[in-house]
Amino acid sequence: MSTATTLTGVCPECETDLTVPPVTLGETLSCPECILTLRVEAVENGRLTLEMVEVQLRDWGQ
Ligand SMILES: [Zn+2]
Repeated sequence: MSTATTLTGVCPECETDLTVPPVTLGETLSCPECILTLRVEAVENGRLTLEMVEVQLRDWGQ
């Protein structure tokens, strides 16, 4: 079997340690704890730098 590659990161919101399959820059994932959407800002030595994505939920006219 080939080496299983996973990446680790920390949720910037709830500081949960995350282990995720390989992702690329700009991809988004969801924190399982706080359900925030996080975007991959950097990958360095298997460590992810994650940035909270402000999901703009606009009012769709009331
Ligand atoms: Zn979180």
